[in-house]
Amino acid sequence: MVVSIDHHVKLVFSEAGFMFCNCVFVDDDIKAIIDTGADVKSLNAIKPDQIDMVLYTHHHYDHTRGHRFFTGAQTYIHADDTQALSDWDEFMYYNSIDRWDELMPGIDYREAAAQLGIEAAGKPDIDIHGVLTDGQVLDFGHTKVEVLHTPGHSAGHCCFWFPDQEFLFTGDICLTQAGPWYGEIMASPDQMIQSIDRLVALNPPRVCSCHINEINTDPKAAMKEFRQRIIKRDERIYAFLKKKPADLHEIAEQHLIYRLHPTPFVLFWEKLMVIKHLERLEKMGMVKTVEDGLFTAV
Ligand SMILES: [Zn+2]
Ligand SMILES: [Zn+2]
Repeated sequence: MVVSIDHHVKLVFSEAGFMFCNCVFVDDDIKAIIDTGADVKSLNAIKPDQIDMVLYTHHHYDHTRGHRFFTGAQTYIHADDTQALSDWDEFMYYNSIDRWDELMPGIDYREAAAQLGIEAAGKPDIDIHGVLTDGQVLDFGHTKVEVLHTPGHSAGHCCFWFPDQEFLFTGDICLTQAGPWYGEIMASPDQMIQSIDRLVALNPPRVCSCHINEINTDPKAAMKEFRQRIIKRDERIYAFLKKKPADLHEIAEQHLIYRLHPTPFVLFWEKLMVIKHLERLEKMGMVKTVEDGLFTAV
């Protein structure tokens, strides 16, 4: 579904749910799209073969999956995410899938991926023609957009600020109930906090993310609450370890990040996220490692 912000800036809301994403269509002298992960019907509505530029918020598959439809476009992403799209091994490394067997012993990755509908999630075949940089302003004719490098979810994650429309596209600073996510190898909850703080300071009157199909006209409170969830996760893990030392697997079984684990992937993500919090709590001097991979509260 295409929803207009103004004459030139339109949101492409995905109608396929999880593992797809919302995109922004700039319908101007230069035609551009930010992310290509909407459902095929929604992408077809904007004639993807006529788009000149594809800009990516970050490298994740749910954002890049429709790339093959944009046959005439030049593609841009932040330099810190280019490597993730370079070959299969790098794709697995950047998505932390190379840690699957270690963290999920006895569970087959391909079966779990198929359950999630991402069996075709090989590295998307994407040529990168240029990189996005923080503060860069792209001019499409009547529309300008400023690139904001907002790492945390991935190292190269970017948000896009349309100053004339006073509209911010926040990518996977997604403001959903499941977020924020910072599980992959290059992700960082500390950077996620800094990036959210930057967006709060920008104080945009209107925002939309890649995973909520609405324009939020009171985003400051939502962004602050989203940030606070990171602190609450710290507190829940610390409180559990205060009761007794535990290893990563036992901590993950407590559902301190995700209330439900409906697929093995969610347990995998829980473990990746707990690792990030343990690193953060160790840095803050609140948790330490004891022997045999056990963690304890200090
Ligand atoms: Zn993502
Ligand atoms: Zn996403």
